[in-house]
Amino acid sequence: MANLRWPDGKPKCPACGSENVSYLSNAKVYKCFAKPAHDKVKFSLKVGTIFEESPIGLEKWLPVMWMLVNCKNGISSWEIHRAVGVTQKTAWFMLQRGRLAMQDDLTGGKLGGEIEVDETFIGGKARNMHKRDRRRKNLKGGGSAGKAIVLGILERETESKPKRVRVTVVPDRTKAVMQENVRPHVETGSQIYSDDAGSQWRMDDEYVHGIVNHAEAYVNGNIHTNGLENFWSLLKRGLGGTYISVEPFHLFRYIDEQAFRYNNRKDMNDSDRFIEVMKHAVGKRLTYAELTGKTEEGPTPESN
Ligand SMILES: [Zn+2]
Repeated sequence: MANLRWPDGKPKCPACGSENVSYLSNAKVYKCFAKPAHDKVKFSLKVGTIFEESPIGLEKWLPVMWMLVNCKNGISSWEIHRAVGVTQKTAWFMLQRGRLAMQDDLTGGKLGGEIEVDETFIGGKARNMHKRDRRRKNLKGGGSAGKAIVLGILERETESKPKRVRVTVVPDRTKAVMQENVRPHVETGSQIYSDDAGSQWRMDDEYVHGIVNHAEAYVNGNIHTNGLENFWSLLKRGLGGTYISVEPFHLFRYIDEQAFRYNNRKDMNDSDRFIEVMKHAVGKRLTYAELTGKTEEGPTPESN
């Protein structure tokens, strides 16, 4: 992990960035000797990563991260509980932290070329949710009551690049919401394929639009969203099988997880994927309070 965190072999102080750092092997921590001295001169490998302040040792964290990125349909907190020997509740929190490392932080830049845009509906358990949670998720009454709307943007494969997907939970499918979620992810000038819902939010000044006409009996060449259809079925298999009851409030974390595996599968083995996620574990934090909205650990948040 030290090698992944500091590939040049020079440990850096997370507080001040100095390389004037030594490893104290007895205490198993690093110490910063930069002048003037500051708070928290001693730090562990975990400081400044998703593992910060976790009482769980890296010897348990690393296998959990390995399983999370490499189990095709995801892994449940109950499986982690049995495999690693932590409580199910701790395992749940570990997995949510792990998913943060899998979150797409736009480091790959905007998507370009041939792009598919499509939405799907997930869930339907909202009737069991408290009103406050329902408001928090902007879930609507009416026809698709309780279903979360998930927006997918897929960059098609080229000779030099495998396909990539970006996925996000959106409150509705209005023109404003669609445009503000598509624009940051897609380069100007790209070709966008979508179904006829796309005619509501098309941006002809910025993109070339190809609209799928489902009423037509034939497939019109490149104008389809088959790549995203394929991703939706993978996503729903994971959500339906492994994660039996995902709260809508946490849905985006499971979506990030599936998108990470999807984007990091071609020409990568389990070890490559593990290294990739560990690189993204740095510079991110997720506290229990942020995760659950509770300041102290209360009852088990959910059963999966
Ligand atoms: Zn320092």
